[in-house]
Amino acid sequence: MKPVPPGECRQCWTHAHNPDIHRRQDQSKDCPQCVAHMGGNHGSQIVPKKPSIWW
Ligand SMILES: [Zn+2]
Ligand SMILES: [Zn+2]
Repeated sequence: MKPVPPGECRQCWTHAHNPDIHRRQDQSKDCPQCVAHMGGNHGSQIVPKKPSIWW
């Protein structure tokens, strides 16, 4: 499981990279968390971008 990169949504990244999450859910329904994040509605789930330490 890769760590969530900065600028990505924790929830969307995890659900996109861990199919087990959706496999455990009711397959006849859309994942409520993913539905809630549709349209860029990620709220505070976005991993903050770290200021570059290379400059
Ligand atoms: Zn999902
Ligand atoms: Zn999201």
